[in-house]
Amino acid sequence: MSFDLNARLAARRADHLYRHRPLLDSPQGPQVVVDGQPLLAFCNNDYLGLANHPQVIEAWQNGAARWGVGGGASHLVIGHSTPHHALEEALAEFTGRPRALLFSNGYMANLGAVTALVGQGDTVLEDRLNHASLLDAGLLSGARFNRYLHNDAASLATRLAKACGNTLVVTDGVFSMDGDVADLPALAREAKAKDAWLMVDDAHGFGALGAKGGGVVEHFGLSVAQVPVLMGTLGKAFGTSGAFVAGSEELIESLIQFARPYIYTTSQPPALACATLKSLELLRTEHWRREHLNRLIQQFRRGAEQIGLQLMDSFTPIQPILMGDSARALLLSQRLRGCGVLVTAIRPPTVPAGSARLRVTLSAAHTEAQVQLLLSVLDDCWRELEFDDA
Ligand SMILES: *Cc1c(COP(=O)(O)O)cnc(C)c1O
Repeated sequence: MSFDLNARLAARRADHLYRHRPLLDSPQGPQVVVDGQPLLAFCNNDYLGLANHPQVIEAWQNGAARWGVGGGASHLVIGHSTPHHALEEALAEFTGRPRALLFSNGYMANLGAVTALVGQGDTVLEDRLNHASLLDAGLLSGARFNRYLHNDAASLATRLAKACGNTLVVTDGVFSMDGDVADLPALAREAKAKDAWLMVDDAHGFGALGAKGGGVVEHFGLSVAQVPVLMGTLGKAFGTSGAFVAGSEELIESLIQFARPYIYTTSQPPALACATLKSLELLRTEHWRREHLNRLIQQFRRGAEQIGLQLMDSFTPIQPILMGDSARALLLSQRLRGCGVLVTAIRPPTVPAGSARLRVTLSAAHTEAQVQLLLSVLDDCWRELEFDDA
């Protein structure tokens, strides 16, 4: 007996599923240097262009000068510092929830919240296209785990009818690989009718959606009673790192007591919380970022439709081009890269079999001219691909 890792790796290669890590040799932004090549990139989640913002950098530097660099301990020991606390209060106020709790990242926030809320004898119901961290959290919880059809409240209702124990309904707010938005009012209604709790992971909506950047719950105007567990991340539109869960006083106190990924980890650097507070201030006061981003989204969709590309049902900065076949998706991505444009191909198992796609993401840091360039390069490369097929 041995681990035949080489055979597994070879099989992955043969299936066109082998992953490589592009080496980024510049800060995030539209213009990057990847593997030594200057490229125009449309694949990060820095939707508002804050990851390399001078004021956010300055807040981080000043934070480090004031608070040092390391969190030093877990929150429950002596790692919960004033900037962490101030950020939690600001996030609670911003989301209109009684309290918020800061986590090191979104993966841990999801693991922590789900496993603290449900266990053996309970039920967790998830959208089948939920982010991997939510699916992992559901499995780890030990609760009865079931997936309903994508964004389908009727499919959720049939599963709710069979649920036992405390029941948690869990969904992405904006689906990370599709860009569509969950029908939260309908999901919230079904959950409420069965005394289940709805948990929304708004990693991709928070900061980017809603007139004030409050994400999907602001977009739909949903209260803490309708969405008792709201999770958001800070590494996407906020441009920094970390995540939070917002909700009632009892929810947050329960997470502090029972969420193992909260308890057993070192707090994030306090200076990072200082940087995130600056991001929050910028996204609250400078609405032009979201307005510009929305114009770019419309520009891209119009142009892509003219080329004949298959887009998905999305009004968010995530604008995937559906390809189906993994090898074809990879080929188009490689040709774009040959023309100086970086868009990653997303393949199974990240997305369902037969639904490989190019995941285009737009950012307020892009200009209209850059989106136009993307469209014209897509036009050329797409024609070439069709010519090869014929
Ligand atoms: C990115 C993402 C996460 C994980 O957040 P991190 O802070 O990057 O760990 C969780 N859920 C969704 C939907 C995401 O897109």
